[in-house]
Amino acid sequence: MRHYSIAVIPGDGIGPEVINESLKVLKTLEELHGGIRFSYEYFDWNCQYYLQNGRMMPKDGLEQLKNHDVILFGAVGDPSVPDHISVWELILPIRKGFQQYVNLRPIRLLRGIDSPLRYKDHDDLDFIVVRENTEGEYSDMGGRLHAGTPFEMAIQNNVITRQGSERILQYAYSLAERRKKKHLTVATKSNAINHTMTFWDEVVNEVRKDYPHIQTQLYHIDALAAYFVMKPESLDVVLGSNLFGDILTDLGAAIVGGLGLAPSGNINPEKQFPSMFEAIHGSAPDIAGKGIANPIAQIWSVSLMMDHLDLPELGKLVLDSIEDVLVEGIVRTPDLGGSCTTKEMGDAIVAQMKKSA
Ligand code: ATP
Ligand code: MG
Repeated sequence: MRHYSIAVIPGDGIGPEVINESLKVLKTLEELHGGIRFSYEYFDWNCQYYLQNGRMMPKDGLEQLKNHDVILFGAVGDPSVPDHISVWELILPIRKGFQQYVNLRPIRLLRGIDSPLRYKDHDDLDFIVVRENTEGEYSDMGGRLHAGTPFEMAIQNNVITRQGSERILQYAYSLAERRKKKHLTVATKSNAINHTMTFWDEVVNEVRKDYPHIQTQLYHIDALAAYFVMKPESLDVVLGSNLFGDILTDLGAAIVGGLGLAPSGNINPEKQFPSMFEAIHGSAPDIAGKGIANPIAQIWSVSLMMDHLDLPELGKLVLDSIEDVLVEGIVRTPDLGGSCTTKEMGDAIVAQMKKSA
């Protein structure tokens, strides 16, 4: 019997709603496999916790999470708490503290879903974005000067390190090696950001020498955003800095059916620390409490979790079952044009998993 311990942070808004469905999927995997056991520890760290305690998680929060194998994360954010607080006090400390330097975001048009683009062939929209997750534009270095004067200004540093760039490039290349097209497209903006991005390009041009069998292309972020729409079939593995990867993947989600279908993994490839799996979307306060959020993004994140735990057959079962339900087309949440609830969508996926296993 293999045992895995999972830290669960449901969070705010639709976070707990979609986490519930993911837990049903995990329970089903356990039943179907027979040889694995998941145990759970729940953490109520969210905006409510912040309003009561003045912080998003306890001082020893990372210590409490450290010994779990993986973290299942819903979403945090509430109109009563500024967004940068929930992000800077919870999500970013976990990503940075556990060296989850890879943010893995598949952009894949599932069977049964239509793209808003003209693409009909699902193989044309099937690539993966690797977002650098620990440094870059999301650095805490900066501040304000000349407050209260007409010359007030804010400065935020962009931190690109050789070590951080090399390790994310090596990860992106090793991923490209395992894929069919063997392409790596790297986002840059060295024509305008002339210190950090020229250094980034330099490191790319050094590391690429070790991977002559992978075709490497560097594109400026503005052009690359257009390629996401104009020729996504040319993409295979896309690497972006923290900010560029963040923006590109919301665009990526939009071309494959929206935020309700976009999963992610925050990965520490060395497995020195727990990795964290979450939907790309946030707490979506506009639909929270209505029971209509699409749980697929979160359930697909469970599939990524299984891959990370070296249980790829379970990852595949989850993703195939999601696709089978979408192809059938009967159970759909409102974001996909249907009128089903979050729970009905989760139940349909669980039923399909049992049928397929
Ligand atoms: P946060 O501040 O937590 O990031 P947000 O207001 O930015 O929240 P998101 O959760 O990022 O909102 O989502 C943007 C919009 O996309 C939401 O307003 C919601 O309508 C839609 N959306 C996001 N996730 C889902 C989902 N799982 N199912 C259906 N619609 C969703
Ligand atoms: Mg958001």
